[in-house]
Amino acid sequence: MTSSLETEPVSYPPAEEFAATANAGSELQEAADADRLAFWATQANRLHWHEQWTEVLDWKGADSDYIAKWFVGGKLNVAYNCVDRHVIDGYGDQVAIHWEGEPGDSRELTYAQLLAEVSRAANYFTEIGLTAGDRVAIYMPMIPEAIVTMLACARLGLIHSVVFAGFSSSALRQRVDDAEARLVVTTDGQWRRGKPAPLKAAVDEALAKGEHSVEHVLVVRRTESEVVWTENRDVWWHDTVANASDQHEAQPFDSEHPLFVLYTSGTTGKPKGIVHTSGGYLTQTSYTHHYVFDHKPGKDVYWCTADIGWVTGHSYIVYGPLSNRVTQVVYEGTPNSPDEHRHWNIVEKYGVSIYYTAPTLVRTFMKWGRQIPQAHDLSSIRLLGSVGEPINPEAWRWYREVIGGNKAPIVDTWWQTETGAIMMSPLPGVTSTKPGAAMGPLPGISAKVVDENGVEVVLGETEANGYLVLDEPWPAMLRGIWGDTERYKSTYWDRYAEQGWYFAGDGARIDVDGAYWILGRVDDVMNVSGHRISTAEVESALVGHHSVAEAAVVGATDATTGQSIVAFVILKASSEANDELTSELVAHVARDIGPIAKPKAIHIVPELPKTRSGKIMRRLLRDIAEGRDLGDTSTLVDPSVFESIREKSAN
Ligand code: ATP
Ligand code: MG
Repeated sequence: MTSSLETEPVSYPPAEEFAATANAGSELQEAADADRLAFWATQANRLHWHEQWTEVLDWKGADSDYIAKWFVGGKLNVAYNCVDRHVIDGYGDQVAIHWEGEPGDSRELTYAQLLAEVSRAANYFTEIGLTAGDRVAIYMPMIPEAIVTMLACARLGLIHSVVFAGFSSSALRQRVDDAEARLVVTTDGQWRRGKPAPLKAAVDEALAKGEHSVEHVLVVRRTESEVVWTENRDVWWHDTVANASDQHEAQPFDSEHPLFVLYTSGTTGKPKGIVHTSGGYLTQTSYTHHYVFDHKPGKDVYWCTADIGWVTGHSYIVYGPLSNRVTQVVYEGTPNSPDEHRHWNIVEKYGVSIYYTAPTLVRTFMKWGRQIPQAHDLSSIRLLGSVGEPINPEAWRWYREVIGGNKAPIVDTWWQTETGAIMMSPLPGVTSTKPGAAMGPLPGISAKVVDENGVEVVLGETEANGYLVLDEPWPAMLRGIWGDTERYKSTYWDRYAEQGWYFAGDGARIDVDGAYWILGRVDDVMNVSGHRISTAEVESALVGHHSVAEAAVVGATDATTGQSIVAFVILKASSEANDELTSELVAHVARDIGPIAKPKAIHIVPELPKTRSGKIMRRLLRDIAEGRDLGDTSTLVDPSVFESIREKSAN
């Protein structure tokens, strides 16, 4: 990174060619500045409302427990907006989903077919007695029925709770209990790296002990794996939903009717059941998907690689894109199944033009080597997106050059499960981008970077790292934590109660040009001898070294310096672990950031603990660095990574 800084541009202005046809223009920000609520009213008109709202926003802050009402009195049906509307407008034959199964099978669903499937599921859910407000748990791999189920719930006003299919039976049980789900939808099994793995068995195990709320388990056949059957509780999709009528009329629901509960990834603590509602959520997901991804319905082929078990899958596979009449790729499996070419084969096969993924995957692609994507024709790609954590400049540049052909703009999108939709991002065709920066709040969104007392940090002062707050309500904002108002208030609102601001829990900095840099979670900002250093910065420096593939940095309690920096590092295949390399890495960080950021210890490890959404669980590494027992590991991909990490870090 040190050497490249002198030769690589610091900022990438939008290409004229792109700007000429971009959905976004400077008038968007002007409109939002002129009248923020009128701006959101315009965005809400992207949707079909069965009944018009009477007031854009009703916000009483603390007096209504920080629960906003958007588009008050309006009535709509979310599924109607995502499916029926397009068929009625004459696009029934347009492909909605190009589905690609892991073993190589594929399926295509047009909007007309999607409507028929969603209607069948809705009719069956009604037949078994589910009514608006009931909860449905969805524990499924990335197959079309998962999306159909979500939309069928939305259509009936049922509240879905998608539980990532990689989670354990106990994580599923926790979530089923918390939301008191009446129905669980699952599959017999799921494909993982070329092999079928059981899934329904985990549901059986989850429901084996004690009283629970589940009346039915609806099972889609996917892997033909053997399943144990509980009579009167378990039903096959192909015996029930498949035979139901494909005619169903969508009823309107209140703008504030709950749409789903989704548990956060649990990077910082016990997962929280985040509640989202209908009108505001759909308005903002639709708006952001249209402008941030520059999506052109009927022309683009869009691919968001997230799983529906994560908020990105909700907002940018299901609700935002489908409300905008997307044609999208949905892929069931892992990126190296059957080999590391899989994503690029898919891009070529469908002519993907918009590709949205997470930095962790970009770094994995880097580790595999550029010769892999370079063996493919990726010229269809015209825009790239990133989400989930700060993307280090090294990975950003690689992504743009190797995947984006040195021209596709990158939208680095900052948002959270809680925000429901993208809050910060460059607007392609409008904003000049800087590698590693989310750039700034989108038109209609208001954010500040402040200190402990709520005083805004000084623009451009590099020492002025602060806390990111959202000082105005936004349409897709969460409407609480399921069943826990106190936790909702204490997590997000108590910190800046006086000002009435939402505390995002992330650190940020604003540079001289006014660009926002997200520094990672506040819990991940270390305090070394009174200096506030972000884990992201040190990680970025480490990954900038040619031997390092991935790095995770934590602050461990230190008697003399308050905290000391401990790094866990994965080397590239070509590098060998030895003391010389470790000292070189320490020196490299000192050169890159300054001696104050020198790690006190560097552990070379084979793997890092990650959540299913691909994020490093630093709190667990901190537990290791400080010699504590591990906290809640229920959302971890592979708890066994700790054995190897403990072994290595004990040396
Ligand atoms: P939990 O809240 O349970 O600890 P989590 O915060 O990881 O889990 P998510 O809602 O999935 O759960 O992630 C949101 C967080 O991800 C943000 O607060 C931020 O820390 C990080 N993040 C997401 N996108 C970006 C981005 N583009 N740049 C920097 N950080 C990002
Ligand atoms: Mg969070």
